[in-house]
Amino acid sequence: MLEVVALGGLGEFGMNMLALSWDKTTIVIDAGVMFPDPELLGVDRIIPDLTYLQQKRPIAALLLTHGHEDHIGAVPHVVPYLDGPVYGTPLTLALVEPKLEEHGLGGYPLVPVKPRDRVHIGPFEVEFIRVTHSIPDCVALAIHTPAGTVVHTGDFKIDQTPIDGEHFDVHRFAELGSSGVLALFADSTNIDRRGFTGSELEVVDAFEEIFTSATGRIIVAAFASSIYRMQILVDLAAQFDRKVAFLGRGMIENSQIAQRLGHLRIPAGLQIRDSEIGSYPVQDVLCLTTGSQGEPMSAMSRIAIDDHRHLKIAQDDTVVLSARSIPGNEKAIGRVLNHLARRGANVVYEGIKHVHVSGHGSEEELKLVLSLVRPRYFVPVHGEYRQLAQHARVANRVFAGRDPRPEVLLIEDGDLLHFDADGGRIEGKAPVGRVLIDGTRTGEVADEVLRDRRHLAEDGLVVPVVAINKQTGVLEGVPEIITRGFVMENSQELLADGVKLLSDAMEQTSVEERTDQGLIKERLRVELRRFLRKRSGRRPFVLPVIMEI
Ligand SMILES: [Zn+2]
Ligand SMILES: [Zn+2]
Repeated sequence: MLEVVALGGLGEFGMNMLALSWDKTTIVIDAGVMFPDPELLGVDRIIPDLTYLQQKRPIAALLLTHGHEDHIGAVPHVVPYLDGPVYGTPLTLALVEPKLEEHGLGGYPLVPVKPRDRVHIGPFEVEFIRVTHSIPDCVALAIHTPAGTVVHTGDFKIDQTPIDGEHFDVHRFAELGSSGVLALFADSTNIDRRGFTGSELEVVDAFEEIFTSATGRIIVAAFASSIYRMQILVDLAAQFDRKVAFLGRGMIENSQIAQRLGHLRIPAGLQIRDSEIGSYPVQDVLCLTTGSQGEPMSAMSRIAIDDHRHLKIAQDDTVVLSARSIPGNEKAIGRVLNHLARRGANVVYEGIKHVHVSGHGSEEELKLVLSLVRPRYFVPVHGEYRQLAQHARVANRVFAGRDPRPEVLLIEDGDLLHFDADGGRIEGKAPVGRVLIDGTRTGEVADEVLRDRRHLAEDGLVVPVVAINKQTGVLEGVPEIITRGFVMENSQELLADGVKLLSDAMEQTSVEERTDQGLIKERLRVELRRFLRKRSGRRPFVLPVIMEI
């Protein structure tokens, strides 16, 4: 029996991961992250709960469709469950490598594949098929299993004028369809858009207008993975005699990787370092930067508040946001654009000019894949529930009148799909959920830590400092209260009363209590917190410090 389960990516945007098991062999397709809402303070990214992989370990292989974070961001977290290689195209693997190194997993076996390659993994034969998307070197997968062939599209649109000349392999999809496909898992991201999505080339016209009319610098913020966008802009820079500088770690790193692998071609002498921007006339510079989502530490956010080492916005500079806003980031992006506009920049984004095109196929492209592959079972993946449901509706229209009529299985994360001689059905549930990852320590973040961080951000920090005699526990001198981010009217008066409260509290304690650091800290914390809440209505984070003299 073939078991298929989505561990993420169904009912949410991002965190794409699908597992297939036959007997004792399990393989995993993609290992993505989701980016957290801004309320999850200090959480860097979110990965799927990996309990299912724990149960099925060792996992025989990890197969990657392409190099976007929502497909490869969790690779370092999945590798510990693997006993087999990671397969992907060269660009995808090049983007994975630094992540593994960061987690001390450098040197883990990565096997490069190209479209139409086939690899054998236990009972599975996996075939890679070229698809087009917003990043080069993307593949779909056909997995030949003892129960039949499973096709997984990965992310795709059908770009008929691909910038690198690598076309969507319509032929192979059609061949698979005519030789019989058990189940198709297809991207649902843009099912709610009519028509066709359009080629990556579509943005050229809008950028040409910008290059023609701009009198100052042109600064474009995009995803660091938007390598096609980089190529379009580099070509325009060459045409309009502008030097190109990359800003922000991700943009610099990815442009290097893309150049090394031949996906980004920059004419000699065109590229300059970020530190050289200031030494060129403004009309001769194009900057490509990270920060299209308003990320607070990104190059773009720093530029917006005049805090970037090499680039100060001047009147007549043009700033282009060449990316969509991921839901939840609109406010942060809006803030950055406002700062830039206030500094006199001409700010351009999708609503003003066609400076971004989606990488995901719209309704007509998705229909085309459905009719090419014509599977026995169709499972919509990648999307929130309403998109999956809409994809199911569209599929039923495409399949209407076909005999036998393909069946649509609308599933969510964790639903176990079983395929055997009797067909396919949902049978049981795997443990699923989200794990919050703190980037600075590469560890998981407990709820408690999050609560603390929210406290600090909203109400600030109050540190009562109390010096006591080591033996007697008697107060030595007057306590002090240090605050950070805790501002009140009358705060002088409030803090003076707070100091008195601390002295009184110390007086009321017994010797045992006073000389026990844990007890005295807790007592001061509770008293001071209650006092501050009553007097100020706020709940700052109270962190007592006891000094023994
Ligand atoms: Zn993608
Ligand atoms: Zn994706």
